[in-house]
Amino acid sequence: MSVLIVTGGLVSAAETSLSGALRKSVLQWRASEAAWLDLKVKVVMAEPIAEAAVERLLGGAPPEAELLMRGRDTLDLPELAEVALATALDKEGLPYEAATVAELFADAPRRAALLARAEAVYLSTTLLRDLGELETVLSLVRRPGIKVVVGGSLGSVLAEDPPPGVDVVAVGYGELLVPALAAWARSGYRALTPPDGGLLTRRAGAWVLRSGLPAGTSLDGLDTPDWAAAARRRGRAGWKVVQYESVRGCPYRCAFCNYPFLFDDTRFRYKSARRIADDWTRYAQTCGTEVVSCLDSLFTVPPKRNRELCDILVARGTPVKWLCYARADDLADEETVAAMKAAGCVQVQIGLESGDPVVLANMNKRVTPEANLAALENCRKHGLTTVTTLIVGFPGETAATLERTFEHLRHGRPDFHFLATFSTRAAGVPVLEPESRARFGLRAASNPRTTAPYWDHDTMSCAQAGVHARALNRRLALAGTSLNAAVYYGGVLSYRPEMRAPLLAFQKRAAERGVLRRALFDPLNAFVDRRLAADVEAWLSGEPHPRSVSRPAAPEPLHA
Ligand code: SF4
Repeated sequence: MSVLIVTGGLVSAAETSLSGALRKSVLQWRASEAAWLDLKVKVVMAEPIAEAAVERLLGGAPPEAELLMRGRDTLDLPELAEVALATALDKEGLPYEAATVAELFADAPRRAALLARAEAVYLSTTLLRDLGELETVLSLVRRPGIKVVVGGSLGSVLAEDPPPGVDVVAVGYGELLVPALAAWARSGYRALTPPDGGLLTRRAGAWVLRSGLPAGTSLDGLDTPDWAAAARRRGRAGWKVVQYESVRGCPYRCAFCNYPFLFDDTRFRYKSARRIADDWTRYAQTCGTEVVSCLDSLFTVPPKRNRELCDILVARGTPVKWLCYARADDLADEETVAAMKAAGCVQVQIGLESGDPVVLANMNKRVTPEANLAALENCRKHGLTTVTTLIVGFPGETAATLERTFEHLRHGRPDFHFLATFSTRAAGVPVLEPESRARFGLRAASNPRTTAPYWDHDTMSCAQAGVHARALNRRLALAGTSLNAAVYYGGVLSYRPEMRAPLLAFQKRAAERGVLRRALFDPLNAFVDRRLAADVEAWLSGEPHPRSVSRPAAPEPLHA
């Protein structure tokens, strides 16, 4: 009898079976509500991928495109959550097995065998995007006599309203929660006690177990995920690429981002430079690791730690290459970029978000378009691959601001771009605060059963944003501005600057061919746009306008 760790997304970039992906999408569609925006986002993302596949078939693809499109550099890795949970369970001496959501779907006999041996399922929601997806996965793993524990990024939402069949919602730091869950298992599932500083409450028939917080801002006391053990479990010698996490929270407060509030915490906590360097050196020595992929949504802060880490890695002969998320204002400093490159950094992922200064200010991004451009220039000069993300439709967005974003990208020439439609899914982000809603006239449907709840604001609706995102993707391809990251996602690590020209030419050819666009994507988008516009109207017409919401009167001041 053991724990079954389940991680991964319902439909992911690692998908190898089209029929499997379609089956899961249909199940998710049935379990979700008001999902036309989610469908629009998927259709917009699928179009350039399908166009590239058709171009490869009809016109042939250059070797650079073949290499990147076939790449699976990071796709076949276990999720970091699995490795971290396994490390914690090893420490507790609790036996476990692990499977991804994709494996459970694809292999019914294996699923039955795993569940027959399991007494508890630990389900990570980190890559599940909404309650519709979660319930689809829960329906696979719920069995009489099996305890179901859910944790990860949906934890805080689930703690408010646990779905049926969940025994424990685990919120906060997994490293602190697993010892409490292991003690619960050892008690025969009779006594669940929260960690020191944690909390246990009962809600809708489930336990909500909160981890409490580490003392101080250092994360050096947390165990390092054991990738060598993960390799041994799979009969492998090691991992060429491993994922790593060194911070929790964020000192910034970008209006669309929930990272500063994840883990039931609002403080910025991080591992020291020396601890990171030690972990990476050990991965290189024990796992044959060549590349560390940092999942922290912000790795270059604090800048002092970043520089210290670079110095240590250089002194150790750069044991690994690495990639990370970084803020443009940090990379606008050329010395920082040069130091990162010297220390083995090969790729940075930058949230440019917009090329318009007003939209950036609305986002509270605390960065300027000029800093974005300086960062891109520095990275190009020092040979760091840039993977950039942009948000389409944030409050203040108009056709004119999107034109500025297009021009911004044309000047900045990042290697890769990814366009995300503005989302109001993450609860508790600053833009959803009443003051912000009133400022922007933002209405957002509260619907946890879809990844992309509907919204509109003074300058755009989500239905228009989807149309703009599709058009911008196409313009960027035709103008040869940058490569669509969705097309080359699996192989981005293999990208080299000299590949840019042939890849851009291939992308342009694929966009120009137009067979698929005319035959499939134009009519499909027209259909989805019509349904989306009607559904948005139906959902949002019931929402009070934020500027008409009456506020509670301010309390009377108290005088001593
Ligand atoms: S977008 Fe990046 S910098 Fe802004 S709050 Fe989120 S993690 Fe921090």
